[in-house]
Amino acid sequence: MMISTAVNRSYSINTPRYSLDVLDANSAWIIDLRMYISLLGTRALPETFDILEHHLPSVLKAECFNQSGLPFETEVRATEVGHLFEHILLEYLCLMTPVPDGGSIAYEGKTEWDWISNTPGSFLITIGKISSRQDGFPGALRRTITLFDLIIGSRTMPVSDMAPISRYAALPAPN
Ligand SMILES: [Zn+2]
Repeated sequence: MMISTAVNRSYSINTPRYSLDVLDANSAWIIDLRMYISLLGTRALPETFDILEHHLPSVLKAECFNQSGLPFETEVRATEVGHLFEHILLEYLCLMTPVPDGGSIAYEGKTEWDWISNTPGSFLITIGKISSRQDGFPGALRRTITLFDLIIGSRTMPVSDMAPISRYAALPAPN
């Protein structure tokens, strides 16, 4: 994906277990996720699959280009938490971005980490923008944080106990 480095704005979000620095650039959101805890992979979070299946089942069918060539629903059982965060955010963005009737929408992202050059536990997540309509991002990020917190064990829930969002019903069945 082509990334313009022009930055419109940036902001930080701090939680007890990680911080997020979000750069809102012209053509992408660039998120620096820094985990404060040593929980860095879903292998140590055995409830991950069940939580996703309950709250965001469509993410399990997401396309994923990983080194092992595994479908995401398999990959998700043993992957880095940054990669998990990326996929949850991509899915909520797809579900919460308005699309014309009968249209479809797809976002793409990538997660990189280099714990020799960068802080151990940090992930760089890049989500490409696909149109000038960006209304869905704040809500998608808020839901992503809520679901991610549930998975990593910061059980704070709300966002009205999550699960259904209105567009689930409107989504066409996957082919
Ligand atoms: Zn992936």
